[in-house]
This record gives sequence, structure tokens and C-alpha cells, in this order.
Amino acid sequence: QAKANGRDDCVFFDPIMQKELSYTLELEKDLKAAIDEEHFVLHYQPQYDRQQNIVSAEALIRWDSPSKGLLYPIHFIDFAEETNLILPIGNWVITQACQQLQRWKSQPILQDLQLSVNISAKQVWHKSFVNDIIDIVKKYQVSPSQLMLEITESVVLKDLTESVAKMNQLRDFGFKMSLDDFGTGYSSLGYLKSLPIDELKIDKSFVNDITVDESDLIMVKAILDLGKNFKLNVVSEGVETQTQRDMLYDLGCNLYQGYYYSKPLPLENFVSVVQNTNALVAISS
Ligand code: C2E
Ligand code: MG
Ligand code: MG
Ligand code: MG
Repeated sequence: QAKANGRDDCVFFDPIMQKELSYTLELEKDLKAAIDEEHFVLHYQPQYDRQQNIVSAEALIRWDSPSKGLLYPIHFIDFAEETNLILPIGNWVITQACQQLQRWKSQPILQDLQLSVNISAKQVWHKSFVNDIIDIVKKYQVSPSQLMLEITESVVLKDLTESVAKMNQLRDFGFKMSLDDFGTGYSSLGYLKSLPIDELKIDKSFVNDITVDESDLIMVKAILDLGKNFKLNVVSEGVETQTQRDMLYDLGCNLYQGYYYSKPLPLENFVSVVQNTNALVAISS
């Protein structure tokens, strides 16, 4: 290509590409080291039911880098997907979540919590995924029904038959399945009837403008309706205000997650929020 331009500089010595390449190599090296040294943490964002009890939480990964500080998924998850490093990272997340559930088993207010984990496309399509995740829950003697596996529409639609088969295997073993970012991926809803799922998560982009944008309200209503008719739990994510929460409540939403209630929290903070909240709700009801 360089020759065709009538110039004989080689593309591989383009200084900008060179810089990008070394950045990429550097990031890959750092991420590999982070995996070896387990420089990750999970933050837990509580999910509230209609009675304001915390019944579950979404586990969200952060890269706790000694040199760069706390890095959010937007800075490394896509890259981890591209390089397949999401496979060991994903196993770390599942292991971590199971360890937590195991520790909570003997603790009255915490023992019934369910944890949601995000599962990436690469994980779902990896041939040993189903066996790996079953091995992990067996190892920690956790009930698979306490794990909600969040996958996105786009993953499912890449190969509907194959994903239905995998999801059936997971659900037959006892895992719960959730469809994350629902409403953003695809325009035809026909596929929904054949999906073995327990939950829909309304994407936060719809929740965000629900009080001001008629078309977002229509989307949210439609999703809640689908949930009701297919007997699925519906979670609203990105609930930021009381007005949004009240509107979703009136529309029949089952579960609420968002900054209005709580940001994702480090473990200790999450545990004390659950203990305070659920103990109070128990007394006042
Ligand atoms: P997601 O699964 O849709 O997670 C929800 C994201 O929305 C989280 O961002 C959460 O902090 C944020 N959020 C929650 N409530 C609010 C709110 O009220 N307002 C706003 N503006 N944002 C809110 P986070 O933690 O940065 O994660 C971003 C994405 O990264 C996740 O989106 C998920 O796709 C991915 N991710 C996170 N953890 C993992 C993981 O362990 N594995 C994989 N494969 N992906 C992960
Ligand atoms: Mg999610
Ligand atoms: Mg989501
Ligand atoms: Mg999202």
C-alpha cells in the first residue's frame, strides 16, 4: 500500500502506528500481570425490590492497578475481549462471586442475596464455559440459583440456536439467566419467546429520560409488559431520581438498581448497607 501511494516509507515504521502498537503491547503486558497477581476487585451495586429490601446485587469489576489506580471497565473490558484475556478475568469474577456467596452462607441477612455477574460474548462461546462455571460453583458449594448470569442481546443473536442450547444447559443446572441492556440491541422481538431466561434488564438509556421523553417511556412500558406476560422479572438499571423510581414503580417494575439508591460499592460498604437497610425494612414492616 505504501508503494501504491508512490512513497516508499513502510507502514510498519509509521510513528503513530508504532506508538499505538507499543501502547497495545504495554496494555496487554499490564493486563496479563494484573491477572497473575489478581489486581482486580469487585464492587457490588445493590438491587432493591418493591418493598425497598435489597435482594440482590450486580458484581462489577474494577482493575486495581498499583501504578494507575482504580480503572473502570470502560478502560479495559473491550481490550480484554479482543485479546481473549476476558476468559481468565471472567473466571476470576465468577470465582470471586462464589467465594462471597459461600462466606455469606452462615450470615442471616446476607445468606439469601443473589449475585449477578456479567458474562461476555467470548466467555459464552468458549467451549468449556458451561463446565468451568459448574466446576466453580461445585468447588465453593454454592447454590447455582444464587447466581444470575447477565448476557446481552447481541451475544444471543449471534447464534440463537447455539445460545439457547447453552442457556438451557446452564438453567437446567440451576443458574438464573438475565438479558442485560435490553432494548438496545435488536429490533425484532420474536426471538424472546424461545429464550430460556429469568430476567430482563431495562437499559439505563431508557430509564434516563423516562420522565421527559415520551418514546423512552413507551419503550419502558413495553418492556415491563413483555416481562409480565412472559413471567420474567424486570430490573431497571440507572435509576437516578425519586421521580424515575416512582414512575417505574407505578408501571409495575420488580427491581431497581441505580445511583438513586446506591453506587456500586466496595465489599465492606455494601455489606453494611445491606445490613442496615434490610434490618430496618424488617422492623418497619
Ligand atoms: P452493565 O452490566 O450494564 O452495568 C451497569 C453499569 O451502569 C455499571 O457501570 C454501573 O456502575 C452503571 N450504573 C449503575 N447505576 C447507574 C446510574 O444510576 N447512573 C449511571 N450513569 N450509571 C449507572 P460499570 O461498573 O462502569 O460497568 C460498565 C460495563 O462494563 C457493564 O455494564 C458491563 O457491560 C461491563 N462489566 C462490568 N463488570 C464486568 C465483568 O465482570 N465482566 C464483564 N465481561 N463485563 C463487565
Ligand atoms: Mg450488567
Ligand atoms: Mg446493563
Ligand atoms: Mg450497559
